[in-house]
Amino acid sequence: MAYDYDTQNIFAKILRGEIPNDTVLETEHSLAFRDIAPQAPVHVLVIPKGAYVNYDDFAQNASDAEIIDLTRAVGEVCRMTGVQPGEGGDGWRLVANAGEAAIQEVPHMHVHVLGGRNLGRMLP
Ligand code: C5P
Repeated sequence: MAYDYDTQNIFAKILRGEIPNDTVLETEHSLAFRDIAPQAPVHVLVIPKGAYVNYDDFAQNASDAEIIDLTRAVGEVCRMTGVQPGEGGDGWRLVANAGEAAIQEVPHMHVHVLGGRNLGRMLP
């Protein structure tokens, strides 16, 4: 499927430096920054620098280098923010919303890293 990327979305503006962000990690192909409305003590968004609308767009159309970079960036964020189990943290959850049913607010691929509190069961 071909995706239509909106270059005026808020994360595109963050990537262009038009809107400030609280950066946690920047790599060659990815940016991780703290969510402006955190739902947990650790709430970081990890996004590719490339123009991808959602996870499916990214998975289908990003290069192997971009996918590996973002995957490793998520792991590094978990370690850097102290939530990595086995490294002193209590654990974390990764969330990616796509489309209306999931209420994806920003049409630029992103994953939420949540931790720092008991996150409860996501599914009953
Ligand atoms: O997955 P979804 O698209 O709903 O999440 C978008 C996230 O982007 C929200 O958690 C929102 O708080 C965050 N956001 C942000 N900085 C902005 C605008 C939105 O961290 N300037």
